[in-house]
Amino acid sequence: MRLANLGGRAALITGDRALDVFDAGGFGPDPMDVLENWAAFTEWAGSAPEASSPYDPARLGPPVPRPRQVFAVALNYPPHAVEAGFEPPADPLVFTKFPTCVAGPQETVELPGDRVDWEVELVAVVGRGGHRIGEEAALGHVAGYTVGQDLSERRLQSLGEPPQFSLAKSFPGFGPTGPHLVTELAPGAAITCLLNDEVVQKASLADMIFGVPELVSRLSAVCRLLPGDLIFTGTPAGVGNRRTPPRYLTADDVLTSRVDGLGELRTRFRAAGAAVD
Ligand code: ZN
Repeated sequence: MRLANLGGRAALITGDRALDVFDAGGFGPDPMDVLENWAAFTEWAGSAPEASSPYDPARLGPPVPRPRQVFAVALNYPPHAVEAGFEPPADPLVFTKFPTCVAGPQETVELPGDRVDWEVELVAVVGRGGHRIGEEAALGHVAGYTVGQDLSERRLQSLGEPPQFSLAKSFPGFGPTGPHLVTELAPGAAITCLLNDEVVQKASLADMIFGVPELVSRLSAVCRLLPGDLIFTGTPAGVGNRRTPPRYLTADDVLTSRVDGLGELRTRFRAAGAAVD
């Protein structure tokens, strides 16, 4: 099943067609409301009418527009840990992307300076919340998956001793997600990031050190997980600041982030402008 945010309303997607979830089934129309009622919604969706309305992909917003918690995991692929100069971690390294950074699948993101880097990631979306969820039960708490970009301003990220990641990864638009929330995912699906036409990151989801069930269990051992929470599960090797010479995003770049079976994001950039409300 593919669930999308189409102009702020939840929609079921089949191919190039959409079904408005509120009009057809009474859930939503806000995608957050659908996530709050995930069990009843999925039961209804199993026998929902076929999606029949053509839709404009430019209207796709973030599948989860207002998550209350956004978790992110550092160094979760061994080759990325090595390129960053660390041993693969024995425990998940968790930080937050503050929720105002969440954006949709076709965003134009303002660049706050000349050190903005890319990190393609699988994002797990929490359906039914919970505290102290066991690893065996964890996937029952996951609504589905989407593609994410953990955009990162490396100068701010490395300031301070020890450095603090969260602000540097939370500028407006620094959390592109989409294009849909998808309930099925192949375990060894490929995850790929292209800068313009060049493949800069490519790996298998099977290479993750801590898989989604373990992350759900470890996070929920501390925090109560809530419907719609996002878990950015870490990036593979190939980020810009570990290249020789380092490479960062410019206003001319187009960044394509893809997970096979989930779809792709296309993120564009613009130079920093004046203050905005
Ligand atoms: Zn990341």
